[in-house]
Amino acid sequence: MLDLFQKTILKKVVFKGIGLHSGLNSEVKILPAVENHGIVFKRTDLDQNNIIKANFENVCSTTLCTTLQNKFNVSVSTVEHLLAALYITGIDNALIEINNSEVPIMDGSSKEFVETITQIGVKNLKAKRKYLKIIKKFELKENEKFISIEPNVDSLKVDFQLVYSNDLIGKQRNQINFADADLKNVYTSRTFCLFEDIEKIKKNGLAKGGSLENAVVVKNNKILNTEGLRDNKEFVNHKILDLAGDFLLSGYRILGSVTCIQGGHSLSNLFLRAFFKDRSNYVTIELEESILTKTYLKIPTNKLAVNA
Ligand SMILES: [Zn+2]
Repeated sequence: MLDLFQKTILKKVVFKGIGLHSGLNSEVKILPAVENHGIVFKRTDLDQNNIIKANFENVCSTTLCTTLQNKFNVSVSTVEHLLAALYITGIDNALIEINNSEVPIMDGSSKEFVETITQIGVKNLKAKRKYLKIIKKFELKENEKFISIEPNVDSLKVDFQLVYSNDLIGKQRNQINFADADLKNVYTSRTFCLFEDIEKIKKNGLAKGGSLENAVVVKNNKILNTEGLRDNKEFVNHKILDLAGDFLLSGYRILGSVTCIQGGHSLSNLFLRAFFKDRSNYVTIELEESILTKTYLKIPTNKLAVNA
């Protein structure tokens, strides 16, 4: 959704639950913040050096989730579904207090985050929101993985393809325009894994909090969760959700079309790091009031105010 002004949450909201990988219970509080504050995590279980800014340069690990870390080696992990919820609900500024090292996985999707934040509401701040406007196509390849971004005038669009050797997941592709009013199929899509990978993941000390309550588990051509899938494109939709969360780490909402094949947290982070190295790839802009219509119709490029 295009908006002129930066937003924050109307009032504090609290989420509690288990961390997917650590198995630790934590409480997350999202608090309102002033303009240009950005999204900032604060580890309230620590007395000092406990501030971690949500920025792609602070990503220290992308193994099965996105982990942010500050220069004092204080980290917070599995931030991506919460960040995706902030992308979708339009929040630019928030202080996120967490009393442990991992954001709760909730039901494996961003459903509860999005629905609760929507219920509580967001408010406009005085400063204008900055958008990242893509100037030219930029792409990154890594073996069979591919990601590119191209200019797009009025929204973030994501075209994602995943290819699994598992027959049930197989090849899935979906295209999502984040300006669409109804993104329910995206924000309710759950994280997933193959049954045969669980033992290996657990051996690596991860997925300690994983269960059929917070992940879709696929065994051969069966879904082990009794309720089945929420949508026939749930797998690829979840990858798109992850991408939105990881891309909010750019610090901006993006006016661009992303094409991604076989991507994930690692590719998204490598991409942002490479993209921002070349200043000619983008400008940051603010929108003009006169060009925003109630229906957020197409915006001519020449009506956008450029603050390059
Ligand atoms: Zn995910």
